[in-house]
Amino acid sequence: MQQDHALKVVNAARISYAKQNAAFGANDQKLARFLWEHGHTSPYRHSFYTFHWKAPLFVFRQAFKYQVGSTWRKYEVDGHTVSAEVFDVLFDTDKGCSWNEISGRYVNWDEEFYVPLVMRANPPHGNKQASHDLPAGFDHAGERERMIAECREAFRLYRERMDRGVAKEIARMCLPQNIYTQAYWTVSLQGVIHFLSQRLPDDAQFEIRRYAEGVYELVKPDLERLGIDRAALTAG
Ligand SMILES: Cc1cc2nc3c(=O)[nH]c(=O)nc-3n(C[C@H](O)[C@H](O)[C@H](O)COP(=O)(O)OP(=O)(O)OC[C@H]3O[C@@H](n4cnc5c(N)ncnc54)[C@H](O)[C@@H]3O)c2cc1C
Repeated sequence: MQQDHALKVVNAARISYAKQNAAFGANDQKLARFLWEHGHTSPYRHSFYTFHWKAPLFVFRQAFKYQVGSTWRKYEVDGHTVSAEVFDVLFDTDKGCSWNEISGRYVNWDEEFYVPLVMRANPPHGNKQASHDLPAGFDHAGERERMIAECREAFRLYRERMDRGVAKEIARMCLPQNIYTQAYWTVSLQGVIHFLSQRLPDDAQFEIRRYAEGVYELVKPDLERLGIDRAALTAG
């Protein structure tokens, strides 16, 4: 199979005319951009990427929302399969993307957590999605120290509970949302573009924006060849 992601997009479109090119040609950018700008998105679903993320849990909570599309067919709670009739509604059939992550049931979490260098405030009115600067003189370092101490204490309680023989899957319940975990994300180019269009703009949380920047840098060479620039990603 072709490994050239940009070439695959235009060849997927060319199959309509029973044509295939061996290399991404001079006119291919024009074709690719035309497809994207006119909503002919299916050719963008044949190129796949696998990203290995290491991120705080709360960032994954937002990233995992990009589900188009998971191939998960079963869902488990405490090791018991939950009825497919219920969860097929949420985790639909083959939509072409998948997440797999570390299991806190099988591994002990390392004492590794994210604490912002600069704290932020909610705005007093209006847009709940944005966050704002705290007043000048706010003690960012002091707040950070308090957060670090709280996280360390949570890890101490976690280990202590396991030392008393409690299973990892229960002991972990006291851990905070900022612990680091890892996951694989395999997703189509269209899914990546959708993620970037929602998580690069300023209304996305700062931390996931940083991950979106990382994903963007990785796919940027392909996007540039396809004629999709950064402004097109965040427009509308
Ligand atoms: C700033 C911001 C704030 C947010 N706040 C919240 C919040 O408070 N609470 C919350 O729960 N979520 C929140 N979200 C997440 C949001 O609701 C989406 O779940 C997330 O952005 C993923 O987008 P999506 O559902 O389009 O992605 P995907 O699930 O990957 O879907 C991609 C696209 O596929 C198509 N699609 C998917 N499923 C179907 C279907 N069944 N039928 C037809 N078409 C389909 C749609 O066009 C969809 O846009 C927020 C997102 C952002 C960017």
